[in-house]
Amino acid sequence: MMEGLLSSTMLQSSEVDTVMQDNDHAYSTNGHVTNGFIDPQNLHKVSQSLDTPRDESPTQSQPSSEMTSGAIGRKLFLPTGCCYDNRMKYHANADFSESPHHPEDPRRIEAIMQEFAEGGLIYDGSEADLAQILKNSPTKYMWRIPARQAREDEICLVHTASHYEWVRSLSELKPADLRAMTTAFDNGRKSLYVGSLTHYAALISAGGAIETCKNVVEGRVKNAIAVIRPPGHHAEHNESMGFCIFNNVPIAASVCMQDYPEICRKVLILDWDVHHGNGIQNMFYENPNVLYISLHVYQNGLFYPGQPDDEGLPDGGPDKCGAGVGIGRNINIAWHDQGMGDGEYMAAFQKIVMPIAQEFDPDLVIISAGFDAAAGDDLGGCYVTPACYSHMTHMLMSLANGKVAVCLEGGYNLRAISRSALAVAKTLMGEPPERIVIPPLNEKAARDIQHVKEYQAPYWECMRPGVIPIKDLQERNAPRLHDVMRSYQKGILSRKHNMISVPIMRKVLSTSFADQVLITPKIQSAKKILLIIHDA
Ligand SMILES: [Zn+2]
Repeated sequence: MMEGLLSSTMLQSSEVDTVMQDNDHAYSTNGHVTNGFIDPQNLHKVSQSLDTPRDESPTQSQPSSEMTSGAIGRKLFLPTGCCYDNRMKYHANADFSESPHHPEDPRRIEAIMQEFAEGGLIYDGSEADLAQILKNSPTKYMWRIPARQAREDEICLVHTASHYEWVRSLSELKPADLRAMTTAFDNGRKSLYVGSLTHYAALISAGGAIETCKNVVEGRVKNAIAVIRPPGHHAEHNESMGFCIFNNVPIAASVCMQDYPEICRKVLILDWDVHHGNGIQNMFYENPNVLYISLHVYQNGLFYPGQPDDEGLPDGGPDKCGAGVGIGRNINIAWHDQGMGDGEYMAAFQKIVMPIAQEFDPDLVIISAGFDAAAGDDLGGCYVTPACYSHMTHMLMSLANGKVAVCLEGGYNLRAISRSALAVAKTLMGEPPERIVIPPLNEKAARDIQHVKEYQAPYWECMRPGVIPIKDLQERNAPRLHDVMRSYQKGILSRKHNMISVPIMRKVLSTSFADQVLITPKIQSAKKILLIIHDA
C-alpha cells in the first residue's frame, strides 16, 4: 500500500519540476487533472505517511476534498497554485509588416514565469529531493494548476453563441484575411489583432482562469495566480476588443457559481488594471451576487476604453453603480488622470475597496490583475510599485477565508509586470508585504475617492456617516442635540448681552423648552421690545 502511494506520489509529483517548463504534452482534453498531480490537500498527509510505518495508516492515502470530507485541512499546509501553459503564446500578431510589434506580446507571460523561476518560487531541483521537500515544506514552491481549453458551454455562460462562433471561425481564415482583419481592427476602440491560433490560445486562457478559480474554491490550493493571455476584461458578451478575446474572469466566476452553488454564492471581482474592465462591468451590471470594483484612469471618459458605441451602455464613470437588483454592485474608482501611484491606490483600498468588500463578504475574490498601472508602463502612465501590489493583495487575502484567485489581464512593460507579479505571488505564498512609505494622496484623487463614496452611500452602510439609534439614546436619557445647542446659545447670549433665561412654569414642558425664552435685563423699564421667535 505504502509503496503504491509513494511511487505514485513520486511519479505524479515529479512533474512539479517541469511545472513551468514546456508543458505541451501534459494535458488531456477532458478538463481534469491527468498530468500526474496529486491533490495538494493531501500533501501534508503524504508527508505524514512518509513517517508512518508501512501497515499503519493505509487509509490516509485516500484523497478527500474540503467539500466531500467536510474536514478542512489546515490551510497552512496548502500551497499557492500557479497556472501557466505555453500554448497561450500561440496567439500572436498576424501582421508581418515592418513594425508588427504589439504591446500584447506573447513574451509577457513567459517573462513573468521566468521571474517566478528566478525568484525561487518554482521547484527546479532533482526528483530525488522531492519527497523530502514535500515532507518538510509543502508550501515552499507554488503548485502547478494545469490549464485546459474552456468548453463552449462555459464560454457561453457570458458570451453569445455567435461570438463564440466568430472566434472559432478565425482558425479557418487564410493569413491574408487575418492580416486584413487585424489592420481593420487595430484602430479605435476595437483595438485587436487576430491570428489562426487565436481561438485555441483564448480557449486555454479562459480554461486556465476556470481551473485556477475552481482549485481555489474547492480548497485544493490556498490561493492561486493564473499567468494567462490573451487578457479578457474588455471583451463584451458579443465582441472581442481591447486585446481581449474571451472574458476570462467572468467566465471563471460564472462557472464557479454554477458548479458550487453552496460554497460560491458571492464573488468579488477586483480589477486593478489601469483600464476600465467594461466587459466585466456589463456582464454583471444587474447581478447582485457579483461585486465588481474597478480602479482605472477615466479622464472624464476619454481614456481607453472610453465611450461605448451603444449609448445605452454605461461607461467607466463613478456614477455607474449597477442596475436593477444589481444596483450598488458596480463600483468605478475612476481617476481623473494618469500619474496615480501608491498613495492613491492605498487610499482607495483603505477608504472604499476594503470597507465595501467586508460589508459584501464574498465567498471568492478574483483579482483582474493587469499590471499596466505599474511604474514603467507607457500605456498606463501610473506609478504603482510592486510593494503596493503586495499590500493590495494582502488586504484582499483577509476576505473570503483567503480564497483569492489572481488572473493576469493587461500590463505591457515586461520588467514591470514581472516584478509586480512576483510581488503578488510571494504575498499569496505567505511572505509579508514589503514595508512602504505611502506618499501623500493627490488632492484631485482625494476628490475622485470622495465622489465614489457619495455615489455608493445609498448602497453601503460603510459609505455613510452612520445612523443614530434615537430610541436607544432616549432610553438612556441622553440629551437631544437641539437642547445641547440651545444651552450653548444661551451661554453665548448671556455672556455677550447679559440675557437671562425665563423659566417655563409648566412641568411637562420644562425640560425641552428650557433656555428657549431669553430676555435682556431690565425688560420692565424698556421702552421698545424686540421679540425674536427662533427655532434652533
Ligand atoms: Zn489595461
